[in-house]
Amino acid sequence: MVVARRARALRDEVGYHDLLADLRKPGCPACHGGHRAAWRYLDALLWEFVNDPEVRARLRASLGFCREHALMLLAVASNRSAGSGVGILYEDLLRHVREELISASRSRTRSASRRGRRSSERPVRGRCPACESANFVATNYARILATAPEDSPPIEGIRRPMRGICLPHLELGLRHARTEAQAARLVELYLRGEEELRTDLTEFVRKQDYRFQSEGLTDAQASSWMRAVYRLVGEPLPRKPPER
Ligand SMILES: [Zn+2]
Ligand SMILES: [Zn+2]
Repeated sequence: MVVARRARALRDEVGYHDLLADLRKPGCPACHGGHRAAWRYLDALLWEFVNDPEVRARLRASLGFCREHALMLLAVASNRSAGSGVGILYEDLLRHVREELISASRSRTRSASRRGRRSSERPVRGRCPACESANFVATNYARILATAPEDSPPIEGIRRPMRGICLPHLELGLRHARTEAQAARLVELYLRGEEELRTDLTEFVRKQDYRFQSEGLTDAQASSWMRAVYRLVGEPLPRKPPER
């Protein structure tokens, strides 16, 4: 009875079904889910909100997007042939940065002449709104993985070959873990995936030697050198719209 109730509560968690879908493909599910959320946010922005005053103000506060999501914005716009939306937004942002720099420069000159002290020279950058969309999804995934029972579908999914949490999403999950046990579970999931990956890497490197080349590489070994990089920095940005 309690088990059935826990299983039902788990299925009702925000993001549960998306997490299971993202576990069907290799890599970090939090990256897949986060990329999809950021892509949709940017797509909706270009489609509907380029001229929305509140959105413009929010984007000025963050000076647009972080590097990763600014590059994703270019991919979204290319897919939609929506370069004009990006142009409108970034003309506004360039002008805002210019005004901030000139104003900071004026106040620096004034304070230097008064007290010989330097004030801020660069505009202050708020949080990237696309990161917030991505982190919302990734945090939900991390919470489900941190609390799901051992024999539940999310844990079975993350333990399949070529799955695992990347280091940035482990760190995000640890910041939101509510108990020591949840934090320990996330670290254990990261380490288990990393151990499997290192075994693939070791075999990949060994088989580069001409004496062992005839043994051939498995798919997991052949992709291990790229997956090792993704494990430490997160999965690469998608170039195409999400399938779901
Ligand atoms: Zn990740
Ligand atoms: Zn971002």
